[in-house]
Amino acid sequence: MEFALPPPPVPAVPVIGGYAFPVRRIFCVGRNYAAHAREMGHDPDREPPFFFTKPADAILLPGHPMPYPPGTRDLHHEIELVVAIGVAGADIPVATAQAHVFGYAVGLDMTRRDLQNEAKKLGRPWDMAKGFDGSAPVAPIHRASETGPLERGAIWLDVNGGRRQAGDLEELIWSVPEVIATLSGLVGLEPGDLIFTGTPEGVASVIRGDRLHGHIDGLTDLDVTLV
Ligand code: MN
Repeated sequence: MEFALPPPPVPAVPVIGGYAFPVRRIFCVGRNYAAHAREMGHDPDREPPFFFTKPADAILLPGHPMPYPPGTRDLHHEIELVVAIGVAGADIPVATAQAHVFGYAVGLDMTRRDLQNEAKKLGRPWDMAKGFDGSAPVAPIHRASETGPLERGAIWLDVNGGRRQAGDLEELIWSVPEVIATLSGLVGLEPGDLIFTGTPEGVASVIRGDRLHGHIDGLTDLDVTLV
């Protein structure tokens, strides 16, 4: 059957060494570093990980400026390790989760914090706080076959040259295999899915003109300018 409208393009992230990674869905883990959980007013004990989503076309590709989104006066940065899923699976055991990882990238879970705080207070969904256009800047993806499993290494974010967030991947409350195991117990994971794995402490506001520079050891840095 023919489409009534032209089908939308598939969002795709460049892969280091060639090809592009087609984005199917974007899942995000909430509160996965203890110090960030505390700064948001929560107990960082290992309460089970929880998830929210962004639309696939919320991806902001490398080299693109980020338009300051409407509807907020408090846009926050959250620097995160992004895991790209390459192999489908449901109820994936922790022990074999790594085999489902295509690769890794540096990403930003941009957040309209004022809308999120209001949603939390009123028991409303987070979608408009988290899933707006351009809310998921991501750097090129490195294949896991090249990097090996990323279990430790510095993760940090500078804004206009000043350090805002800094942590280490080994501080993840729920490791990447544990996140994959838990998430795949809730939805069947598919090739093309991205998982934003949570942010260390230091989240704060950015304004138009700010230059964000994100880093994770072993991956390509992420540069985003707010316009
Ligand atoms: Mn986040």
